[in-house]
Amino acid sequence: MADFQSLSNPTRALISLDAWRHNLARLKAAAPTSKMMAVIKANAYGHGAVRAARALDDADAFGVARLGEAIELRESGVAQPIVLMEGVFSGEELSLAMDHQLDLVVHAEYQVDLLEQYELLRLSKNIAPVPRVVWVKLDTGMSRLGLQLGQAAEATKRLRALSLVGELRLMTHFACADEPDSPMTREQVHRFESELRAVALQGFEPSATGLANSAGILSWPSTHREWVRAGIALYGGSPIAGCTAESLGLKPVMTLSTEVIALRSIESGVSVGYGATWRAGRASRIATLAVGYADGIPRHLPSGSPVLIAGRRVPIVGRVSMDMITVDVTDLPEVTIGSPAVMWGEGLPVDEIAAAAGTISYELLCGVTRRVAFDYV
Ligand SMILES: *Cc1c(COP(=O)(O)O)cnc(C)c1O
Repeated sequence: MADFQSLSNPTRALISLDAWRHNLARLKAAAPTSKMMAVIKANAYGHGAVRAARALDDADAFGVARLGEAIELRESGVAQPIVLMEGVFSGEELSLAMDHQLDLVVHAEYQVDLLEQYELLRLSKNIAPVPRVVWVKLDTGMSRLGLQLGQAAEATKRLRALSLVGELRLMTHFACADEPDSPMTREQVHRFESELRAVALQGFEPSATGLANSAGILSWPSTHREWVRAGIALYGGSPIAGCTAESLGLKPVMTLSTEVIALRSIESGVSVGYGATWRAGRASRIATLAVGYADGIPRHLPSGSPVLIAGRRVPIVGRVSMDMITVDVTDLPEVTIGSPAVMWGEGLPVDEIAAAAGTISYELLCGVTRRVAFDYV
């Protein structure tokens, strides 16, 4: 299909393959004895999942959230292990997952039932299922996915009886690993270990375990086990509250940029944008940029939030519109029609824009829309 979106589209996401590889190497160095699952769900946090899998082919496995995401990767030729981190939700999904050689998470009893039913069905047709890796997920405090404490022994016993379960591993997910002072992470590790002891009493020792996300990799080395799972840090976002990505040795992968498409001088007291929410306190020069909430800039990003033009920060003034924003360039006389502007990325951390918008980098990165043209360099 012709890519009409990128025809003279001033609004582009530049994706740095070097930065991607750099961040992966940085994270592997932080957890040198663990295997690395690169989490590329949600279209690789908005960066392009197939491109991510290619750039990050040093990873030991890929993690996704939805069956469709996994199948897209397989169909594009990705041969590494792909883990469905929420498992499957129906028998049809399980069957497709098996056809595409996907590894599964089992986080609830109904999924154990699905695996048993699938196995019975296959055996009734005299087809032995091809064994897969299955990760049993424990709920150690997130209260979202995972078997409750006390359920793992029974579930692992049932799973071990299945020929489709080749290797059985245990995992959990942290709620507060981004807060270095929170006691929650230690409590979750403690619960995980006590559940491990409970399954050991049944004579079962998992072949591997995994707990750490990006924040766990970078600030909780004691939680590194056979596997770690990196998401946001691969993309150059800081996973740790109060730490910049740069100070953690991470580089921004996506630089979202646009151009000035109009310029005007206004008198003091004149308002800018919908709702006339911002008024010039002095005679001002206002630049209009070709990016808005239809490209993924949050509409509630407030006046005063920075945009980078010619290496300098200038404030957004007035409301974000669907296709445009307005910035005050009074102090940057060199700005002309066509001047490039960076919304986030190289020179302007996405974490800072996320903070200004009252959200996290994850949401901004995932929210870049298909109208934006992507360039991989
Ligand atoms: C999304 C996700 C990750 C990655 O988390 P980051 O904070 O982006 O590193 C790891 N594990 C699971 C189960 C996830 O869903």
